[in-house]
Amino acid sequence: MVIALLLGQNPLEFLDMANSVVPGQETEVYDPARATENEDLKVFSLGVFNSANEVWSTIFEEQLNKEYRNPVFVTFTDQTVSQCGGASAETGPFYCQLDEKVYIDLSFFHLLKQRFNVSGDLAMAYVTAHEVGHHVQKLLGTLDKMNHYRGRISETDYNKLNVKLELQADFYAGLWAHQAQKMGIILLEPGDLESAIRAAEAIGDDHLQKEAQGYTVPDTFTHGTSAQRMYWFNKGYQTGDVRLSDTFNDPSLN
Ligand SMILES: [Zn+2]
Repeated sequence: MVIALLLGQNPLEFLDMANSVVPGQETEVYDPARATENEDLKVFSLGVFNSANEVWSTIFEEQLNKEYRNPVFVTFTDQTVSQCGGASAETGPFYCQLDEKVYIDLSFFHLLKQRFNVSGDLAMAYVTAHEVGHHVQKLLGTLDKMNHYRGRISETDYNKLNVKLELQADFYAGLWAHQAQKMGIILLEPGDLESAIRAAEAIGDDHLQKEAQGYTVPDTFTHGTSAQRMYWFNKGYQTGDVRLSDTFNDPSLN
């Protein structure tokens, strides 16, 4: 039996672990017998992942004048290990900045459907594109800045910064959808955008906290409210303009 690693916390507190870095943690091998589960979701997510890298390579080269390097794509069902520590079914998808890998939890897609009644290709794609967005933040130095602040400012202030970080990844996900469509990589069908926005809404911290506790505690928000997540995803999608991605200096978030 594989031992479920870490996670004594409320599992609904985080969608991903971009900031939950636990360097040097012991690793476990996860169940190879489950490697072939959810093959269709795996293929789909890999397609999104590849197209996101294509989009970002172009943006880095043409607009940011920087070199893009691809992250590594890892899928898992229920649990996995990374340099950032382990993940269980409750963790959901995450990005590990230490090994530069995007970890997509395939069981999370079932959760989206069953628990939040969210389905649709763009909703699922949004999850992968958001995690690639964290990789973009790594390459642009944004995650390093966040690491610098950890422990140096109050938890409340740090959480505020973290919300901005997450909303920026939402913006990047929207931007991916815009550019991928423009480049002819994806073809959006009617209802796709709505389903992605519903996903952003369903996984907003206020929504998750209400489900878990029956009330919301704004100071502990680390991903942003449903309205904020929808707003930033949609802004990225509508504009497709990387210059408008600065959630850190947006007056509405201060
Ligand atoms: Zn995130």
